[in-house]
Amino acid sequence: MAYRYWCGECGFKTPWLSESEGEQRQLDHYAQRHPGIPPGGHVEANRKNPEGGIGCVHVIGIIVLLLIIAAACSR
Ligand SMILES: [Zn+2]
Repeated sequence: MAYRYWCGECGFKTPWLSESEGEQRQLDHYAQRHPGIPPGGHVEANRKNPEGGIGCVHVIGIIVLLLIIAAACSR
C-alpha cells in the first residue's frame, strides 16, 4: 500500500511512498515552503502496485506464448 500526501496550501504532492516516509516529506515541504503553518492537506492511499509494471510484463508474456503456439502450429 502506497501513500501520497497532498499539501493543503499549494499544489504540492509527494510521490507514492510509505506512510511514514510520505508524512516526513510533507513535513519537510511545510518547513521549507510554509513555515509557521501547521501541516494540512490530505492523504491519498493506493491499494494497487504503485509501480504499475507487473501487468505489462504479464501481457508481454502472453503475447510471446501465443507467438510460440502459432509458430508450433504452422509447422
Ligand atoms: Zn505547499
